[in-house]
Amino acid sequence: MPFTSLGLSPAMLRAVSAKAYSVPTPIQASAIPVALQGRDVLGSAQTGSGKTVAFALPLLQQFEASTMEVPRKVGALILVPTRELATQVGEEIRVLAQHMTRPIKVSIVFGGVSINPQMMRLRGGTDIVVATPGRLLDLIDHNALSIRSVRTLVLDEADRLFDLGFAEELGRIVRLMPTQRQSLFFSATFPPAVQALANTLLRDPVRVEVLPEPESAPDIVQRAIAVDTGKRTQLLRHLIGLNHWSRVLVFVATKHAAEMVADKLRKARIYAEPFHGELSQGKRTQVLADFKASRLKVVIATDVAARGLDIAQLPVVVNFDLPRSAVDYTHRIGRTGRAGERGLAVSFVSADSEAHFKLIQKRQGLDMALESVDGFEAQEAAPAAALSVSGEVVDHANGGVKGKRPSKKDKLRAMQGQSQGQ
Ligand code: AMP
Repeated sequence: MPFTSLGLSPAMLRAVSAKAYSVPTPIQASAIPVALQGRDVLGSAQTGSGKTVAFALPLLQQFEASTMEVPRKVGALILVPTRELATQVGEEIRVLAQHMTRPIKVSIVFGGVSINPQMMRLRGGTDIVVATPGRLLDLIDHNALSIRSVRTLVLDEADRLFDLGFAEELGRIVRLMPTQRQSLFFSATFPPAVQALANTLLRDPVRVEVLPEPESAPDIVQRAIAVDTGKRTQLLRHLIGLNHWSRVLVFVATKHAAEMVADKLRKARIYAEPFHGELSQGKRTQVLADFKASRLKVVIATDVAARGLDIAQLPVVVNFDLPRSAVDYTHRIGRTGRAGERGLAVSFVSADSEAHFKLIQKRQGLDMALESVDGFEAQEAAPAAALSVSGEVVDHANGGVKGKRPSKKDKLRAMQGQSQGQ
């Protein structure tokens, strides 16, 4: 089904072709026609399904029919769980709105940064607000913003809004909006609290469910490379050069590792930046913008910082450190191969993480052969569970301490064994 059969206006079709989207994703094909009719939508969709465009186009098209008031009044409110998502969604809407005859003002607001510049930018009103719930309420409390004229409410990633403890804020926000409005509700999962909120917010919604079909499943090639721990940065450099990777998201376990690997790559003249929770918001926004604009080749991220991060055409994800769990593995590799593009996920596996990698594979139903790269062949052997100096059983594979201290009898036996061996 082409975009032209969804009921979109010429300006919206121009926006779609400027983005070079050739066909609608399944969620777009199902949600756009019903949202354009003014119906409420209950969308079950993951990040990467194209849901931002699915709600942004009908929402923008409604502005074409309305006249601009001075000062501008908020006609659409989009609530998102994180700052990163607010920026992404807001910027995507700005780009799509560029093709409209009437200029649309899109304001992006989130917490963790000074409120004053955001208040200044809201002077003269605004058409669309993309916000995290807490900061939105702060701005309302400061009389910088009113949501009494909202015609369309979008809840994006509703389950994560709950996970992050925004339930109370959501309740307050909803009470400040007119009851006569259209609501578009998107969530990847529907635990009882999320379903209950959907029931109270939506009126006779059209359910739009996108089950991952085999042919629309992300096309991600997964590879695992055996390498010694100390050789990983060199291997990463080698692979970037050899394969001409233009944009790589590298996952590490800690903030310190993110800083260190980025530093080493920069010394090798590969433009890389760390991305972790302890960077200032300004720095994080800058890194993301540079990465998207291809001014930056490599981003070294921790799991927490990278959550919700969406970069179009991200061809390669590297697990420099393996993720802690199989679920994190899925989240990480899901950053590539989005919306029908091909992706590559490479995991570095060293002797001490091999057992952990096997576990991840088992949970995911995977069976990857460990490859080796010329010049980087793994030399270290997998350590068996061994006794540490303190006498605890150390499970190297998981980097943790497991089991109990050996008893007096165990120690005696060990000593006897040693003396017999001498
Ligand atoms: P989302 O689920 O909104 O986070 O979108 C995931 C990615 O898919 C974004 O990078 C979009 O730019 C891209 N995208 C959205 N719609 C389409 C489409 N119809 N064709 C190709 N890519 C798309």
